[in-house]
Amino acid sequence: MSTITVDKQKCIGCGSCMAMYPELFKLGPDGKSEVISDDYAAHNYSKEDIVSVCPVNAISIKD
Ligand code: SF4
Repeated sequence: MSTITVDKQKCIGCGSCMAMYPELFKLGPDGKSEVISDDYAAHNYSKEDIVSVCPVNAISIKD
C-alpha cells in the first residue's frame, strides 16, 4: 500500500496537483492540498509524474 504525503509547510496552494490528479488531491479548508486517495496506481498515474507536478516539492510518495 502506497502513501502520498503533502508537506503543508511547503505547499503554496497553487492547485496543480488537484487539477492534474483530482482523484488524489483536493483543496483543504486551509487553502492547501489534501490527499484524498493514495491509490495512484488504480488510475495508472506514475509516481514520478505526480511528485514532479508540484513546483515546491511538497508531494512525496512511499510505496
Ligand atoms: S502542486 Fe504542490 S504547492 Fe501546488 S497545491 Fe499541490 S502540493 Fe500544494
